Amino acid sequence: MPAITAGTVLVSGANGFVAVWVVRSLLENGFFVRGAVRSAEKGAHLRQQFSKYGDRFGLAIVPDITKVRAFDDAVKGVDAIAHTASPYHFQADDPAELLEPAIKGTLGILESARKCNSVKRVVVTSSTAAVLHDSPTPMVFSEADWDDQAVEEVEKKGRAASNAHKYRASKTLAERAAWDFAKKHQSEIGWDLSVLNPPLILGPVIHEVSSPDALNTSARQMHGVFTKPDAAASGGGCWVDVRDIALAHVLALQKQEAGGERIIISAGAFKWQDWLDAAPAESKSKYQKGTPGAGKDAVHPVRYDASKSKRILGMQYRSMEETAEAVVDDYEQRGW
Ligand code: NAP
Repeated sequence: MPAITAGTVLVSGANGFVAVWVVRSLLENGFFVRGAVRSAEKGAHLRQQFSKYGDRFGLAIVPDITKVRAFDDAVKGVDAIAHTASPYHFQADDPAELLEPAIKGTLGILESARKCNSVKRVVVTSSTAAVLHDSPTPMVFSEADWDDQAVEEVEKKGRAASNAHKYRASKTLAERAAWDFAKKHQSEIGWDLSVLNPPLILGPVIHEVSSPDALNTSARQMHGVFTKPDAAASGGGCWVDVRDIALAHVLALQKQEAGGERIIISAGAFKWQDWLDAAPAESKSKYQKGTPGAGKDAVHPVRYDASKSKRILGMQYRSMEETAEAVVDDYEQRGW
């Protein structure tokens, strides 16, 4: 399949934390972008934000991504799709709250793309939530791994499954559905699929947000660590800067070799304390200090092999210091 170096890209969930950076990155790289949002109100901030790009940025209103044929109009004439829309939170009681929009949203946009012969590539924003599994010993996961454990937990326990398992199952099932769809319809579709699997995405925020409490899940977690006593403690995970995952979406369209590939996009492992330590020296007095150095020699139970992202996409990852500085600058500009 040819790589996409120009043309129009449909970005679903365009008002989200990650997606606004994806839109910006696409525009900066010369693409036209059609951002799909649930309502005109949700698109108003985007229109204003990207007004300098004139007709290179437009909106599509898709009120309910779980409805059959929801994206039929939105996909018309686009050259590629970046599907980011999916619920990311840990508050669902009924797992269907996460599973339905994740799976039906993904299958719906692919079904609309199947009928649209202008589409040449679809990039789906999955997650390392679809890759990892719980393990008693530290593990390094790769694209060969699948989080079937979360799916089994949710099938077995339903509402009683942990919130993390519910979210992880939604990402695993949605990603599997995407690959199954692409395989099943291989002979009739003019596009190929590329899937990105990032861990926790952190960095400055450019989507519309009124207060720290209204932040998306990952940015809210980061803000809590910087501002609430003891939040840093011993927890951690793996991360990538939101600007790097945004660029990865652009590269996944541009690089021919990304077609048919599942690609982990991860900068490395962290303990929350590392973020406090990485913040610029002059900002430290304004935020939590935690226990400086406590994350340094910590064991990381989960790591990811990101070599494929470097090989296929040429990814180079921002450092923790660069991301921490941008995050703190963002808080300061907002008076947080
Ligand atoms: P976000 O800021 O909450 O954005 C989520 C986007 O999806 C919003 O545009 C939201 O629309 C849309 N969406 C959610 N549920 C929907 C539903 N039921 N129907 C229609 N649209 C819905 O989250 P994000 O952090 O940017 O996440 C974007 C994608 O990246 C998701 O696929 C997520 O799984 C993935 N991801 C995120 C992280 C991370 O750490 N942030 C890590 C790995 C993967 P509304 O604003 O209208 O609700």
